[in-house]
Amino acid sequence: MQKGFVRYTKGKLVYYTIPAFTKTGLVRHGFSTRLGGVSTGETAELNLGFYRKDTRENVYENFGILCNALGIERDRLVLSKQEHHDGIRVITAADCGKGIVRESDITDTDAFICNTPGVPAVVFCADCVPVFLLDVKKKAFGLVHSGWRSTVLEIAKKTVLKMQAEFGTEPKDVLAAIGPSIGQCHFEVDADVAGQFDAPYQKQVGEKYHIDLWSVIVDQLKSAGVQDEAITLAELCTFCHSDEFFSNRAHKGKIGLMGAMMELI
Ligand SMILES: [Zn+2]
Repeated sequence: MQKGFVRYTKGKLVYYTIPAFTKTGLVRHGFSTRLGGVSTGETAELNLGFYRKDTRENVYENFGILCNALGIERDRLVLSKQEHHDGIRVITAADCGKGIVRESDITDTDAFICNTPGVPAVVFCADCVPVFLLDVKKKAFGLVHSGWRSTVLEIAKKTVLKMQAEFGTEPKDVLAAIGPSIGQCHFEVDADVAGQFDAPYQKQVGEKYHIDLWSVIVDQLKSAGVQDEAITLAELCTFCHSDEFFSNRAHKGKIGLMGAMMELI
């Protein structure tokens, strides 16, 4: 396993990328923080959620600031419609602009897969786990929003297998990365939620349980056939670093959303 995303700053903007993905030259990608946007109040500064306490103009401008830094065309973005399920959708050039500059027919989608260049996908997170996948041989990617419910449903593993079914992806050719999200240090749940995870991923703390979602997802990826050395873990807890990241738990829901973005070049 590889450790660490790279932190970039451009003016006031702060975002992260994955060294192993950059090195391939196959994708433009990144994960935003809360820093460097134009939103104010509880969604300050770089909120990417149109349905948070913010104006449409601010969110659209925030997308522009981030896309400009990543070299991605804002108006071609394809936005997810996340339901904390295991819906995986194949996207093509016909989907470009959906949710950002035109109406979207995308529903119940917590993961995208794509093998068309120039189709930038976005999933939204603020504690939930963003998972990046890249098939370096078949040139295809997957982008996953793996909150705890979707993690229980094994969405990361299912996305690798869907890439295999749709694009002929060999899991041994897949690079994977787990982005900034809530760490075991802060993902505290009651017994009913803890019971949905196997014992090795839990730590009992008083009456509560702390779940290690990162390890659950790493093991799901490996069980799909992704190699250990192909996985990069950001190891950044959004709650611990809530000055830099929106954290649903740290800010008690008064937050904007961050985005994981990727497109094939
Ligand atoms: Zn933490």
